[in-house]
Amino acid sequence: MIVMKFGGTSVANADRLKNVADIVIQEKEKHGSPVVVLSAMSGVTNMLIEGGQKAKERSLDEALAIVKEIRQKHIDAINELFESEETKGALLDHMNKSLSELEVLYKGVSYLGELTRRSLDMISGTGELLSSKILSAYLNANKVKAKWLDARAFIKTDGSFGNAHPLWEMTKSKTLGAVMTEIAAGNVVVTQGFIGSTSEGITTTLGRGGSDYSASIIGVSCEAEEIQIWTDVDGMLSADPRVVEDARIIPSVSFKEASELAYFGAKVLHPLTIKPAVERSIPVKILNSMNPEAKGTLITAESRNDEPICAIASKKKITALFINSLDMLMAHGYLARIFAVFDRFKTPIDLITTSEVSVSITIDNTENLEAIVEALSELASVSVMQNVAIVSVVGKHFRDQSGIAGSVFDALSDINILMISGGASDINLSMVVSSEDADKAVRNLHAKYFSKVAK
Ligand code: ADP
Ligand code: ASP
Ligand code: MG
Repeated sequence: MIVMKFGGTSVANADRLKNVADIVIQEKEKHGSPVVVLSAMSGVTNMLIEGGQKAKERSLDEALAIVKEIRQKHIDAINELFESEETKGALLDHMNKSLSELEVLYKGVSYLGELTRRSLDMISGTGELLSSKILSAYLNANKVKAKWLDARAFIKTDGSFGNAHPLWEMTKSKTLGAVMTEIAAGNVVVTQGFIGSTSEGITTTLGRGGSDYSASIIGVSCEAEEIQIWTDVDGMLSADPRVVEDARIIPSVSFKEASELAYFGAKVLHPLTIKPAVERSIPVKILNSMNPEAKGTLITAESRNDEPICAIASKKKITALFINSLDMLMAHGYLARIFAVFDRFKTPIDLITTSEVSVSITIDNTENLEAIVEALSELASVSVMQNVAIVSVVGKHFRDQSGIAGSVFDALSDINILMISGGASDINLSMVVSSEDADKAVRNLHAKYFSKVAK
């Protein structure tokens, strides 16, 4: 069985949804019924979140106007996709029920003037429920037996709203039961990415871009043969195509390289997608729903590509903390005390470099920044630089090659590097630069390694 995940742009309107149905039908003819995991129609998750913010600011009218816009977007798709009044009626009833619940949520948020992470998850997961219902009905209307499943019944998570983690044992057994029963009955399963629920049944989300992760969780639970991530580019590229015009497709990439790239900014894949798939050696493919014939990128345990540099990635809106204290001189246990602060505030550290009396750290999640700085200030002097960027060169066997660092810094000779982190892994060399310099740094590095002329 194959899991096929389609992202927001792949389901953006009626035409795109028809195209998804064609791809699913072809897959069913080739390999039997797949499991289809859908994102919300493009832009809908952002609109839902914005509505929540507006409601919190007590601009309920604006929040309700967003509901109206979302309703219209789905009505347009439904009207274009279906002829049967009965099918249209059933879909519109379902949509109106979901959107009435959304309105109630916005009213509650506006009344309280408070938007908790828990409420936001109930709000932001609405888009996936709507898009998946439409695709499932469209397949059935085209004589492809499809079963719509509510992912919250089997993707069980902890209560970390906004960034929930799967409860693996429960999720595996529930997913296997729910999904494989339908597959065995010859049905295509259509379900939602991004959402899950706690063991008490409260809606959670897996974090922005989390539909990729959902596909992987389902693939692992059902021991799928392959997990396909269908998006709007031809595969994983040598750099973000919005930054580098001539970015190239990487035909084959290792699990390790792909997760490093995803973590350090290659938005095409949610960083957590790969780990469960690695553990079960399930290949992950990145494919283009607008160009389904293209080969895409195959992610497997070992890359089949010998190039020393695989891709350049960058991650913006990062915060750097420069921690300095003479007490660190010859002292032991100092780093442990610093790490304890980040642990206490549940904040992951991305990059770190140390010298005898200083530690520089970058973080992405700044929710507790103030409290972290306050706690660190008891140990050392701290300066904070917001809105910096990490630029990463990802490749292989960096420790066994001479000249990599030299060539990277040569490419960045006109850029002010604030921090360097290398050697932690054999496949990544990362630099921190100001956000304004990030795109230029990526282009310089890309030109160095990927453009024959510039080399
Ligand atoms: P989806 O809605 O299908 O999940 P996303 O917008 O999350 O799609 O991810 C796809 C986008 O990721 C591409 O359109 C591209 O602009 C961006 N991207 C950034 N870095 C890379 C990269 N290295 N390779 C491919 N795409 C990338
Ligand atoms: N719709 C969600 C988001 O926009 C999840 C996803 O598309 O992966 O973040
Ligand atoms: Mg995505």
